[in-house]
Amino acid sequence: MGKKIAIVGAGIGGLAAAARLSNKSHDVEVFEKLPECGGRTHLLQDKGFKFDMGPSFVMMPDFFEEVFNYCGQDIKDYLDLQALDPSYKIFYPDGDSLTVYKDSRRTAEELERIEKGAGLGFEGFIKETTRIYKSVRPLLYNCFSRKELFNPKYLGLAAKIRPLESYWQLAKQFFNSDKLCYAFTFEAMFMGVSPFEAPAFYSVISYADHVQKIYHPMGGMYRIPLSLESMAVKFGAKFHYNSEVKKISRNSGTISLEFNTKKMDFDRVVVNADYAYAQSELLGRSIPDYRYSCSVYLIYLGLKRKTEGFAHHNLFFSADLKKNLSQIFHENVIPEDPSFYVHVPTVTDASLAPQGKEIFYILVPVPNLTRPQEDLFRKEDRLRRTVFDRINRVLGADIEDLVETEHRFYPQDFISRYNIKYAATFGLAHNLMQSAFLRPANFDRKIKGLYFAGASTQPGGGLPVVIASSKIVADMIQRS
Ligand SMILES: Cc1cc2nc3c(=O)[nH]c(=O)nc-3n(C[C@H](O)[C@H](O)[C@H](O)COP(=O)(O)OP(=O)(O)OC[C@H]3O[C@@H](n4cnc5c(N)ncnc54)[C@H](O)[C@@H]3O)c2cc1C
Repeated sequence: MGKKIAIVGAGIGGLAAAARLSNKSHDVEVFEKLPECGGRTHLLQDKGFKFDMGPSFVMMPDFFEEVFNYCGQDIKDYLDLQALDPSYKIFYPDGDSLTVYKDSRRTAEELERIEKGAGLGFEGFIKETTRIYKSVRPLLYNCFSRKELFNPKYLGLAAKIRPLESYWQLAKQFFNSDKLCYAFTFEAMFMGVSPFEAPAFYSVISYADHVQKIYHPMGGMYRIPLSLESMAVKFGAKFHYNSEVKKISRNSGTISLEFNTKKMDFDRVVVNADYAYAQSELLGRSIPDYRYSCSVYLIYLGLKRKTEGFAHHNLFFSADLKKNLSQIFHENVIPEDPSFYVHVPTVTDASLAPQGKEIFYILVPVPNLTRPQEDLFRKEDRLRRTVFDRINRVLGADIEDLVETEHRFYPQDFISRYNIKYAATFGLAHNLMQSAFLRPANFDRKIKGLYFAGASTQPGGGLPVVIASSKIVADMIQRS
């Protein structure tokens, strides 16, 4: 007989869990504090512009296919994933740029232009990251306990994935210049951690990026949560929006959820809300001294006309990478010369803006709010000037003259909108001590029947692995 299951949060992890569990004939109800699904995968519409406000890179498409297959559906009936070419463009502070193409031979030619011999280095790097990926991938659909760390099977595997080396050290073995090492490790910033601190096995993202390529769902990123929600609804899941859970507790054989005005009991509960927030605020527990990912400052611009010189994804690197990272992760100050990212989805997808117009989404990594920090508002004008000056050099125009509409999203908004502890945009940091076996498990050790799916649990953050966390949880519930 199906179980009565509640899911707290309709982010990607909650939606994917709802689809899987309702497909297995459970009685699933989803409670979401916001008026719509998606969580951090959020859409803002204004003056005909459709701003995807969160994730923009679709990597590891097999993880997306898996959730549809699990539910007996074909992803093609829900999502039109198009491989991007070029994959992205990198802009260096000295005016040089590097284009990463879908065709790796073209990328190798670009690399040779920047560093003699880098084409061969690229081959070696891809070979090594492919090997690491093959070891890591099977682990991404399992929840590990700390005990298993001492299982000889996993000890042997751990040795293969270079746990004690950093992502940066790995890149350094294949490329000489910092310019290229950064080009092959910047992905760490998108897990909210410095490439000097992320373990080398996170280079699976570089593998995904260069071997599996980068995709865009036509119609925009928000198609992803909408597809998962419609699949869950098709199998009978019920969605309750504007329904914030205030407390979770054990209640002799069931688990109670408390809301402002009511209390409900369930056989199983899956928490998709941020793990650290849920532990402290919903379960009333003290939490360990976790390390948290960085936060981000976001600017969304709807432009009056199309632009030239930009790819769909664009990365601008700081002139002093070490200083930039130290300001974010150690000094807790707003970077003076930041690395940042510019998403121009209208390069690929005209449906996201009125005809002939363009979207620019600018993401600047900044410190999280674990400690008092320099006030972003005080430094905001300077930060924007620095970012816009670099964009203007590529654009050959002043971007501010082109703006038809603008929205901003600050670190504090991650707390007030999504309940994300300390505004850590990417959840718990992905350092060695919070990875794999050492990341919070997907089940609760004290309350039987309580599970966790989402960015701060195993296997980690980012859309594909959050989708994997929903499979871990659904499989555990099926076995229970
Ligand atoms: C700006 C940005 C850029 C990113 N870029 C990428 C990228 O390019 N590629 C990629 O793969 N990943 C990217 N990520 C990471 C990715 O978006 C996240 O890892 C993923 O969306 C997290 O999903 P989740 O389901 O764990 O959590 P969330 O999306 O946070 O969902 C949790 C849900 O729980 C709800 N909730 C919280 N508390 C309660 C409560 N008490 N009661 C009811 N509901 C509650 C929240 O409102 C939210 O809807 C990015 C993230 C951001 C913010």
